[in-house]
Amino acid sequence: MSASMTPRMQESTASHESTWQRSLQHAFRKVDELLDFLELTPAQVPECDPTSSFPLLVPREYAARMTKGDSRDPLLLQVLPVRDEQLIDEGFLVDPVGDSASEVVPGLLHKYASRVLLITTGACAVHCRYCFRRHYPYDEKPKSWLQWQTALQSIERDSSMEEVILSGGDPLSLSNGRLRQLIDAIESISHVRRLRVHTRFPLLIPHRIDDALLEILGGNRLRTVMVWHINHAQEIDATVATAARDLQQAGILQLNQAVLLRGVNDTLPDQIDLSKRLIDVGILPYYLHQLDRVQGAMHFECPESLGIELVNAMREQLSGYAVPRYVREMPGELSKSLIR
Ligand SMILES: *Cc1c(COP(=O)(O)O)cnc(C)c1O
Ligand code: SF4
Repeated sequence: MSASMTPRMQESTASHESTWQRSLQHAFRKVDELLDFLELTPAQVPECDPTSSFPLLVPREYAARMTKGDSRDPLLLQVLPVRDEQLIDEGFLVDPVGDSASEVVPGLLHKYASRVLLITTGACAVHCRYCFRRHYPYDEKPKSWLQWQTALQSIERDSSMEEVILSGGDPLSLSNGRLRQLIDAIESISHVRRLRVHTRFPLLIPHRIDDALLEILGGNRLRTVMVWHINHAQEIDATVATAARDLQQAGILQLNQAVLLRGVNDTLPDQIDLSKRLIDVGILPYYLHQLDRVQGAMHFECPESLGIELVNAMREQLSGYAVPRYVREMPGELSKSLIR
């Protein structure tokens, strides 16, 4: 039986003594400590690079879902700094998706019709090695209220903006107080109908989905959509399932975006298990992203022909709603581009 099926954390520890902030404080930040915990010796992981300028960050709740002694664990591979990140190729850029070009005011990206993306903070609950924002020029501090005001005013002036996407970094790194302040302000803009939250936080630290947050997300007039970022079925244990159930009960529509990653989820069983597990816990597969060609991530890239093959094979084996759209992000395009 897979380790992901074992409940690792009692629900009762979630709210009181151990808050999510404390989990973040106690996260692994040193490669040797994580390897120790996983019962791996440095000799078993020779590709590891503890000196990386994009440092390791892994909450214990997530490390607990890794298989001890397995240096190829699909969760470990997403977070472990390795020497291959220093490989340079002219196709792999610092800003591969043209974010800087679509920034209307600081922290507000307007690329596509009827929706805008707000960079709320640079902080995350984890550092994913393949992150396309790993070189994004933000610090880890939340944006100031003044900066948000400028972004909100710009949304207010454009009545075509029906949806606001909170992104980052990870918007759930913000305290509930700041989130409430921000969401209240968004809710007060009458032409905004939908709120979307792009987050990995509840996957890393599931008790981030606490009562106050459920009230903030579920208790406003906006149709609220949460887009998770789950790449492998083993990431979804009982604590994650509980968080998804609570969100569903609060009326939140839940979707998932994954990234196709070499060594992590590049086989048909990986993709089928992921989709099935997502559906089991009430999250619909939305996108499977072709890796953005960001400097430091080229060792994760899979050929598009593989992605096409995988998605076609999934279509033959799964219900239609369990098959994600395989897409790539092209600077200057009016939407994500379907790959087929
Ligand atoms: C991906 C993205 C969106 C959302 O696109 P959807 O296809 O609606 O999920 C919006 N704004 C920006 C800047 C994006 O990169
Ligand atoms: S959580 Fe998202 S934004 Fe943060 S490092 Fe991972 S992929 Fe990047």
